[in-house]
Amino acid sequence: MRIDLHAHTSASDGTDTPAALVRAAAQAGLDVLAITDHDTSVGWASAAETAAEVGVGLVRGMEISTRFRGRGVHLLAYLPDPTHPGLAAELTAVLEGRDARVPGMVERLRALDIDITVEQVRRVAGPTAAVGRPHVADELVRLGVVVDRAEAFDRFLSPGRPAYHNRSAADLETMLALVTAAGGVGVVAHPWGRHDPGVLDADGLAHLQSRGLVGIEVDHQDHDPASRAALRRIGTELGLVMTGSSDYHGTGKVDHDLGCNTTPPDQLERLLAAAADAAAASGRPAPAMLWP
Ligand code: AMP
Ligand code: ZN
Ligand code: FE
Ligand code: FE
Repeated sequence: MRIDLHAHTSASDGTDTPAALVRAAAQAGLDVLAITDHDTSVGWASAAETAAEVGVGLVRGMEISTRFRGRGVHLLAYLPDPTHPGLAAELTAVLEGRDARVPGMVERLRALDIDITVEQVRRVAGPTAAVGRPHVADELVRLGVVVDRAEAFDRFLSPGRPAYHNRSAADLETMLALVTAAGGVGVVAHPWGRHDPGVLDADGLAHLQSRGLVGIEVDHQDHDPASRAALRRIGTELGLVMTGSSDYHGTGKVDHDLGCNTTPPDQLERLLAAAADAAAASGRPAPAMLWP
């Protein structure tokens, strides 16, 4: 069983459509794939249709932009009911915050004499529900200012760089409660990716677990072997589910090929059991992983 629980599509900032993602997963020899676009579930229906066609198990998820103790945290939410009113309202607010941030980034780039416009960013972003810095990066590539997304982040878009623009995010503890109330389970994505543990040390993770957190993503490309080992120690001690994934973005991110990290089957089983419990507690039918 090869299981990859974190991947993006053109519904957010990946480059494959949801259907193409699922086909690519089958091609890569995956048995189970989670679709986890940023802050949206709009790709689910199309992905599910293709999953049934090609025989890949599909876990419906999303990666929600949140804030915890002053720091940005990505929360993977698996199998929540996206029509839950409280969850839907928070996600709408996050998506509106994404839209509202684009003019600020464009203004800062224009101040650097780069001839970029909001309309151009929207055009290159296409029909995405979750516009983000990667789309600004794509327009900078198109304009010939940088060669790829990575250079755009390094020079302009990462925190501390001149075109960085903060945005609103949901409160992590509020979001955990909403995801659980909607019959889903929360897993912190790449807790130590690109930085030190900070607020997501053992104490922070234990606190989040007391607020409903079910798991942490351990095997992720942004974690070096030492981080993975240390996270695994904490996860084992706390009894958290521990996942692995590619965080695939199509051609938008190099070195994140589908299946480059995977989740053990017993960990997926624990996730599904926790989701079934959350669904039962919320009076919802158990959310099934979608099999062909
Ligand atoms: P945003 O959602 O606008 O905050 O942008 C965050 C997204 O940018 C995440 O999906 C990251 O995967 C992506 N990202 C961050 N740094 C880089 C990088 N150096 N190269 C490519 N993508 C990146
Ligand atoms: Zn992304
Ligand atoms: Fe992330
Ligand atoms: Fe991601």
